[in-house]
Amino acid sequence: MASAQGRIADFWDELTAAWLAGEDPLPDPLPRWYASYEGRGDGQVTRDAFAEPYGGDLRGIPRMVILGLNPGRACLDFQGRNGIFAHEIRERGSYSAWAATSPYLGEEWSRVNGRNRYAWSRLRFAREWLHDDELAADQLLTLELYPWHSTRVTAPITPPADIIETFVWQPLADIPVEFVFAFGKPWLGACDALGLPEVGRWGRGGVDLGSPVASRAAVAFTLPSGQWVVVSWQSGYAGPPGSEDALRLRERVLQARDDMRRDSGLDPQRLSARPRRQRRKYTVSQAKNRMHRTVEEILDPGPRNIDALWEHFDAQCAYCGKGLSRDRREGHVDHADPDAGNDLGNLVLACGSCNGDEKREESWHGFLRRKTPDDALFAEREGRIRTWLDQHPRKSAEGSPEIAHVREELGGLIEQFAVKCAELKKLVSQRDSAP
Ligand SMILES: [Zn+2]
Repeated sequence: MASAQGRIADFWDELTAAWLAGEDPLPDPLPRWYASYEGRGDGQVTRDAFAEPYGGDLRGIPRMVILGLNPGRACLDFQGRNGIFAHEIRERGSYSAWAATSPYLGEEWSRVNGRNRYAWSRLRFAREWLHDDELAADQLLTLELYPWHSTRVTAPITPPADIIETFVWQPLADIPVEFVFAFGKPWLGACDALGLPEVGRWGRGGVDLGSPVASRAAVAFTLPSGQWVVVSWQSGYAGPPGSEDALRLRERVLQARDDMRRDSGLDPQRLSARPRRQRRKYTVSQAKNRMHRTVEEILDPGPRNIDALWEHFDAQCAYCGKGLSRDRREGHVDHADPDAGNDLGNLVLACGSCNGDEKREESWHGFLRRKTPDDALFAEREGRIRTWLDQHPRKSAEGSPEIAHVREELGGLIEQFAVKCAELKKLVSQRDSAP
């Protein structure tokens, strides 16, 4: 019998192929899933973009599993039938092959839409949790509670329990991870619907999480597989907690796990051995991504010193005016224009909730207007941000023709590296199949 992972991957591959061919099938049990969310306005679901039930390598052995709410706003230049991603899927031959390439961390998407904060913050969280800065993006698997796109989530998402059982919990049970992370409060409902035993509760109504974000909370359950699912949320945000909250959460969750083992008389030493991991292997595409990233970091390293930023914004959030303590590391550096890189002239000081949770990929001006209905206050904050941006004109991303030239050469070398690796692979397989 095929594994649950393979079965679900096949299901979505087939569905996506039909959709790309111009159909729009909704085979059982998808109609019930589709109907389990009814957003209006910005929350309206679109099917002009392909459904994205998961990201990462569902057929592989990921080291981290994260559950999200939905794939977010549709960008038809990418996810429409003639979009860049649609073409990539056709080229790769299937949704599963495409999803394994971490497209939202790739150059195409970033060039047009800027850094994808959700994708990057999930990867950051996974690296922090596993204490592995080098964790490759394709070792992270993300599954959504609701697979269709909408700009916002404006209504409850309440998928039938049997669907989540089939499409999420079953494939997860095969994956050797001890913890699964679910970001967004609607996952609580999905866990409750299964009647999962609760094994820990932090933040509101539970053990203090020590987080400066008042609404940050987490609840852990055990799945029938023995894995823990840790649901974590804060109001208005469905992404992972910031670095400091992630550390606090990690400490408390591991503590709870050890306490539980000790209480049940099990030997924590023996049992805390993590699920056996495969020997670490690097694929050529991971190596390529890493090289591209290295080049981008040389080109756009970001400022060394942000004292002037703190001074200019008077230790206050540029958007909501909240006072920030530098000692307590409350200040966040927000990208005014999400597409415009790490230059000081694109950075403003913000609080965690404006930076991480509310503004997301919006540009600074629209967000500030939304945040500040009062005209006089708006003008004051707008002026302060504009002055800062004007004082620090941005270097153009390309810079001199020489820079552009070397960058292009590096791109060519990275491609050449991949070509040579393919050549080597072929030779090695010939050698190994020789009599
Ligand atoms: Zn703020």
